[in-house]
Amino acid sequence: MLARGFYKFRPWFWDGHGCGETTRVEREIDRMFTKEFKCTVCDKPENQCTCNRYCALCHADYELRLTEDGQYYCRDCREACDYKSQDQV
Ligand SMILES: [Zn+2]
Ligand SMILES: [Zn+2]
Repeated sequence: MLARGFYKFRPWFWDGHGCGETTRVEREIDRMFTKEFKCTVCDKPENQCTCNRYCALCHADYELRLTEDGQYYCRDCREACDYKSQDQV
């Protein structure tokens, strides 16, 4: 957990609309400091990765999410193997 005072610095993505927004931003900041899933191919997080994506197990190309091991899996395989995407951790 970060020191409370950290939030006073208002990072660049701060847009400060009400307390609900503050909670969202704080969660965003916390996530930046927690372990981030990165694509094994380009070493970038899911939202920056521009690799050709396909499921590492069945090669499907739909509903892919990056999981902890740095590979993409389709929803069916993730559910079958209990892999979680970053925002499900
Ligand atoms: Zn990638
Ligand atoms: Zn699959």
